[in-house]
Amino acid sequence: LFISLEGIDGSGKSTQARLLAARLRAAGHDAVLTREPGGSPGAEEIRRLLVEGDPARWSPETEILLFTAARRDHLERTIEPALAEGRIVVSDRFADSTRVYQGTARADLRAVVDQLHRLMIGREPDLTLIIDMDPDAALARGLARKSGEDRFEDMGADFQARLAAGFRALAAAQPGRCALIDGTGTPEDVAARVWARAERTLP
Ligand code: ATP
Ligand code: C5P
Repeated sequence: LFISLEGIDGSGKSTQARLLAARLRAAGHDAVLTREPGGSPGAEEIRRLLVEGDPARWSPETEILLFTAARRDHLERTIEPALAEGRIVVSDRFADSTRVYQGTARADLRAVVDQLHRLMIGREPDLTLIIDMDPDAALARGLARKSGEDRFEDMGADFQARLAAGFRALAAAQPGRCALIDGTGTPEDVAARVWARAERTLP
């Protein structure tokens, strides 16, 4: 079983991915917690190329190729082997992030994102939990933590609002695979909503 967590920066994806993996393990499941960009040694190296240094270092096209290359490595080295062993994979971001981030920054590149996904990735999660958060509230959370790794620190609430709209549109377009989770409240409040939805998909 493959579950992805998605949402804008600071929405609480990493927190919820960690809590979900812990809860799955407590329930006796063999859960693997992973993340994108990254999740395998090669993909973590590509992550550094993407998130460190000047954000304008790559053209939008090159950026899509790097995210796709990282995802392919993550899929080959981490996700597919774990799924083949019957484990539950919980990934903090997957292909929907590229659809929304790279497809939102440059809407005309969405077709390229989709074609590359078909060619090189193919796999979709069985369940995608989209943590829905007001961009201003998410930004405020984000400001309270690690800085320097967020590529959109300077792009602000406007870009995050477009991303949030992009994730909501995705959830509406694919209601079978995607579920919108209210991201407000304490981490435990959100985790309870995440668990209620994930439980319905468990074997
Ligand atoms: P990013 O994609 O930018 O890495 P994220 O969506 O993975 O962010 P987290 O890293 O889980 O989000 O959370 C962002 C910050 O908000 C962290 O400091 C975290 O401790 C805090 N946080 C997470 N969930 C909540 C919550 N429900 N209420 C308040 N703070 C929270
Ligand atoms: O979620 P995480 O903080 O690990 O992501 C690292 C950075 O990469 C963030 O600034 C995020 O907004 C960005 N990102 C992106 N496109 C993606 C996935 C993440 O620009 N497809």
